[in-house]
Amino acid sequence: MPRVYLSPPHATGRELELLTEAFTSNWIAPLGPQVDAFEQELAAAAGVEHALALSSGTAALHLALVVLGIEPGDEVICSSLTFAASANAVVYTGATPVFVDCDESWTLDPTLLNRALSERKAAGARVRAVIAVDLYGECCDYDAIRSVCESHEVALVQDAAESLGSAYKGRPAGSQGRVAAFSFNGNKIITTSGGGMLVSDDESLVEHARKLSQQAREPAAHYEHTELGFNYRMSNILAALGRGQLEQLPARVATRRSLRERYWEHLAPLPGITFMPESPDVVGNAWLTTIVVDPDEAGTDRETIRLALEDEDIESRPLWKPMHLQPYYSSHRVIGGEVSARLFANGLCLPSGSSLAALDQERVIETIRSLATGR
Ligand SMILES: *Cc1c(COP(=O)(O)O)cnc(C)c1O
Repeated sequence: MPRVYLSPPHATGRELELLTEAFTSNWIAPLGPQVDAFEQELAAAAGVEHALALSSGTAALHLALVVLGIEPGDEVICSSLTFAASANAVVYTGATPVFVDCDESWTLDPTLLNRALSERKAAGARVRAVIAVDLYGECCDYDAIRSVCESHEVALVQDAAESLGSAYKGRPAGSQGRVAAFSFNGNKIITTSGGGMLVSDDESLVEHARKLSQQAREPAAHYEHTELGFNYRMSNILAALGRGQLEQLPARVATRRSLRERYWEHLAPLPGITFMPESPDVVGNAWLTTIVVDPDEAGTDRETIRLALEDEDIESRPLWKPMHLQPYYSSHRVIGGEVSARLFANGLCLPSGSSLAALDQERVIETIRSLATGR
């Protein structure tokens, strides 16, 4: 039996046709008609005016901070429970990340965020931006977060790397911040094998990022540079792949949500097994279904389940290790931290790919059921 992966690539649409089109047109470069079309189509899907296709989600986060003017000496607040890329982008600018915990929604806690901003400003820190992360496809409480950001006059950056196709209060994920970043890494809900997108309603921000992403070339016949640039553009070939994938996004979301429902149905009744909550304001893309195992109630623990799945050649993974627990960030400030630490200790991401076979999901469920028998 082939290995069952957490979230493998799934390409069954017009990808090959569009790739061939890109190839035969000889636009084999980090620009071209497929890139232009992918940007327009993605902007429409995310409910924003402007989009810039880039080499990765990390590049999108980095450029978002650069065009917001984040500089060495600044501080940027970042969700602690996230993938390292969110925080690393801050370090690339020379600014310092300050971590804020999540609440029981698993996403950035607006009350703690307000406390963090007040405390850091009172201490004389120059806090310039907040990175809110849509964890596992679940959007943050943006009405609350936006009002905190506005009252403290800091820019809101939405890390939507995991939430393409989700919606918050009826609006697509990616339209909630001043600027947002998507990822098309191989494990995300759609993929270009590697890639990302920066989106915003603010044309000047996106156009500035566009210039910086191609080594900040000035409009001159020779190579003229007045600011520091980067080589961050997406290849036209990969944009073709992305277009083929994006056409299938609604179907991918529907499949992942139904996989999650099946997990809910079979695992939620077990003692000591709970799920990441879905806010009534959010229709998430269910990128990864995640459970929390209470070892005092379940009669088993997260690691026992993970190893039992591994014995079946089924990949599962602990939640993101919070940034404030990462050795690299151990000297950084954190406001709160207990909630994400507890989730990390007991949380597990289950196979959630849109190509997951019903029988394989059944094996995942059976493995967990056989262990979580109560104490
Ligand atoms: C995947 C991911 C990123 C980074 O995207 P890449 O395309 O891999 O650079 C950033 N933030 C979060 C929360 C992610 O899950």
